[in-house]
Amino acid sequence: MMKPVTVNQYGLAMAKRPTDSPCLSCGGELSNVFVDLGMSPLCESFLAKEDLNKMEPFYPLVVYVCANCWLVQLEKYVSVEEIFTEYAYFSSYSDSWVDHARRYTDMITERLGLTKNSFAVEVASNDGYLLQHFVKKGIPVLGIEPAANVAKAAEEKDVPSLVEFFGRECATRLTAEGKSADLIIGNNVLAQVHDIKNFVGGMKILLKKGGVVTVEFPHLLRLVAENQFDTIYHEHFSYFSFLSATTIFKAHGLRLFDVEELPTHGGSLRIYACHDDDARPNTERAINLLAREEDEGFRDIARYDAFQERVDDTKHRLLEFLIGARREGKSVAGYGAPGKGNTLLNYCGIRTDLLEYTVDRNPYKHGRFLPGTHIPIFTPDKIAETKPDYLLILPWNLKNEIIEQNAFIREWGGEFVVPIPEVRVLP
Ligand SMILES: [Zn+2]
Repeated sequence: MMKPVTVNQYGLAMAKRPTDSPCLSCGGELSNVFVDLGMSPLCESFLAKEDLNKMEPFYPLVVYVCANCWLVQLEKYVSVEEIFTEYAYFSSYSDSWVDHARRYTDMITERLGLTKNSFAVEVASNDGYLLQHFVKKGIPVLGIEPAANVAKAAEEKDVPSLVEFFGRECATRLTAEGKSADLIIGNNVLAQVHDIKNFVGGMKILLKKGGVVTVEFPHLLRLVAENQFDTIYHEHFSYFSFLSATTIFKAHGLRLFDVEELPTHGGSLRIYACHDDDARPNTERAINLLAREEDEGFRDIARYDAFQERVDDTKHRLLEFLIGARREGKSVAGYGAPGKGNTLLNYCGIRTDLLEYTVDRNPYKHGRFLPGTHIPIFTPDKIAETKPDYLLILPWNLKNEIIEQNAFIREWGGEFVVPIPEVRVLP
């Protein structure tokens, strides 16, 4: 079948659209479109009732791939400050994520032999969901978190937190104060940094000789393989393969000597970095993953080019399901109000006619409305009150936890539905 070619405003095929922005990693020219998700509001800008009659900003959600270093990235549409000063996401509202953090803390403490004389720094430490486990072990920590409201929640867990953006300047100051780190942690933050060079450069400065950096991020390979286009939003400037991560860290004197594949966020990587002159050899896992990405075509533009068609197909299938349910007189409610839900609902044009409401455990979101689609957010009690026929799980990465907590919907014949990798009613 011939691939349909859409012509954009410049009269060029969609796949080629030169930008004025250089690549965030290598500074090369950015002109290959990976996927175009149309216009979308900022996915964490939940609306209060009084905002519903106001104008709402929408920005293009177009993702590019650099044909030089293979970093998948957005153009800069919004400033980081606009997004992250009052962040609504409190990590501790997810039980499985707090558990994940506790298991990590046990593992890394043992692997690196951390003691009360060590020093661990987490960048984007959120509400202290992770560092609290080090505090319990007596290991000194420091959190760095730009969102003041979540950093305050960390202080309440006895996790000392600096309210600022991390980069070379912050790292240089801490190092001068004698606060070099044995361990630097960055979980799901790399994507949210626009100036990655400053960020990774800061890690190089802050890291003690012999120290280790661990960074977790969703794996581009899984995003592509499983149609996880809803994990793309303005708050995530870049999307990493092991290949593109290796290139960025190498450019700043850090070597990725190990990597683990994790099930979190639909499939993540935990990379381990050390100074480039460190004696540790690269592990088999690190060598094999680079080879696998290469085998799967992540150094070939055609691999990236094919994504849009699959994304559109995923959208059409979800709409078919929701329209079918509506025609049969069945009710559909959402579970969760995650950022990814907002990309999905806006891209697919799903509003209250197809999804009556959603619920979330985070009290910050109760009584508010989803950006763009204006779907109302209630407390989870709403589910038992209204008995929907289908519960569409928007944070599908947490589906096991959500199904367990809401198993009671089966009492009235309710069924769980996931939208990604393609819409599916779960048995
Ligand atoms: Zn590049």
